Amino acid sequence: MKITAIEAIPFNIPLTTPTVFAHAGIDSAEHVLIRVHTDDGVVGQAEAPARPFTYGESQESIVKAINAWFAPAMVGLDPLRREVYRDRMSWLVHNHTARGAVDMAVWDVIGQALGQPCHLLLGGYTESMAVAHILFARSPEGMVEEALELRERCGFNTFKVKVGKDVGTDIRAVRGLRAALGADVELYVDANKGWSADDAIRVLPVMREVGVTMLEEPTPAFEPLARRRVAAASEIPILGDESVTRLGEVAREILDNHSQLISIKVARTGFTESERIVGLCEGLGVGMAMGSQMDGMVGTLATLAFGAAFRSTSLRAGELDYFMQLTDDLLTEPLVVTDGQLRVPGKPGIGIEIDEAKLAHYRIDTD
Ligand SMILES: [Mg+2]
Repeated sequence: MKITAIEAIPFNIPLTTPTVFAHAGIDSAEHVLIRVHTDDGVVGQAEAPARPFTYGESQESIVKAINAWFAPAMVGLDPLRREVYRDRMSWLVHNHTARGAVDMAVWDVIGQALGQPCHLLLGGYTESMAVAHILFARSPEGMVEEALELRERCGFNTFKVKVGKDVGTDIRAVRGLRAALGADVELYVDANKGWSADDAIRVLPVMREVGVTMLEEPTPAFEPLARRRVAAASEIPILGDESVTRLGEVAREILDNHSQLISIKVARTGFTESERIVGLCEGLGVGMAMGSQMDGMVGTLATLAFGAAFRSTSLRAGELDYFMQLTDDLLTEPLVVTDGQLRVPGKPGIGIEIDEAKLAHYRIDTD
């Protein structure tokens, strides 16, 4: 089997309400569907989400990277030779989600060609994962209302609270959520680098008081002294996200003891590099959580396939429901969270079946 072409299709799907977090916000999912075509007719698919505030990528840059760099390096190659294209593309810096999506689309090809789901090929630890619901920044009262409604409707037991804009509001939000949800629900917070070290240290007693289990990216990712101060002061483990966008950064953050937990996002490290991150973290005794790069359903299926493959990535609830923020999606069968869980579809590859009429409607590269 040989790769014959790689297609990059940009598409926009409006959100139900704008997603707001510490340093940015979006009102539309601006993603690129990547399709890896092969000479025996198997087509692998994955989603690259343009996140300029984290990786500097745009839909245009992702399409350019695929057409100008990835496709020429990969066409003609056996898709099983993942280490060859990884090596061929090692000269290229950044372009995280373009690289990650190409890797996952190749894994999708391999799974379909072998007739096996990717979560089994990668490790096959479990068939479903608990889902963490992300509460994006809004009024504390609005967050409480949303959490109660979604716990009732979908059975969520874990909530991630977006903080990092204003310390007073953040404190009211976590206290309000704990009071409303009771002691049995897991709460963790993500400041998206929005706090100063002083802010973060000031809120630590409140975070302990309400039983927050993880403190995600409290201060700017590349201010080492601030990170050192917060890590030294915090009994709550710090979950690295924007600071750990590739394997070498994971190693640095762990060895510097700036992060005690690592967010794995397959949107930025694909399956191949994410596997190496799992090995590194397991070897050093560092826990992991499956993060969302604000994935649509296509990206969520990939995160689920990888998270369900290993014991260490499925222990914690994964961020597997961002698609609920989109007004529509591309799959023929929408994903549904039931009893706080999402099940792997069990189909060959990642299990992505695209509704071509919806893709035709939302793609932005045709008239
Ligand atoms: Mg984060």
